[in-house]
Amino acid sequence: MDRCKDLIDYNQQWAADRVSEDPEFFERLCAIQEPEFLWIGCSDSRVPANQITGLQPGEVFVHRNIANVVPREDVNSASVIQFAVDTLRVQHIIVCGHYGCGGVKAALGPSLEDPLEFWVEHLRRIRDKNSDELDALPDEDSRWRRLCELNVLTQAENLARLRVVRAAWQRGQALAIHSWIYDLRDGLLKDLGFSRDGL
Ligand SMILES: [Zn+2]
Repeated sequence: MDRCKDLIDYNQQWAADRVSEDPEFFERLCAIQEPEFLWIGCSDSRVPANQITGLQPGEVFVHRNIANVVPREDVNSASVIQFAVDTLRVQHIIVCGHYGCGGVKAALGPSLEDPLEFWVEHLRRIRDKNSDELDALPDEDSRWRRLCELNVLTQAENLARLRVVRAAWQRGQALAIHSWIYDLRDGLLKDLGFSRDGL
């Protein structure tokens, strides 16, 4: 219970500090939201989008779920992407996975209870599609790391095929998709190389 009170106390200090540094900080944020980035990341508590990139409130629109997946049939992530592209007009969509992802690891293990299993199925399909490459790796840890990367690349490729993204490109809207991975061991982001900024 006391830990929650600590959070409220911290918040009061944080808000006061913002106003003392910049008296119009909250006023400005109330007036308009125009982030340049949409971040699609994992819910993992160790990969907080704002802290690891230095982005401030108002600068990044964030969607996080287990293992940063954007399944076509998922209304939640699809709505976030639609709003970010059509209304906020973000210029970059960053799909960011991370090594050591428990959601990805689950796809290499036995079946779980629903609804987790339903979600992990998205990752099992990526594992199955890449089974030749993964099976050739020497150990479970290498397979896990590689599947973390393959998941990010797959999600970024899927984003580039979305109707809402293609429509933005068709009307000449500036929009780039990026595929990144974060390493829990050293706190560093790495570009996995897939990017797309047009049809
Ligand atoms: Zn994760």
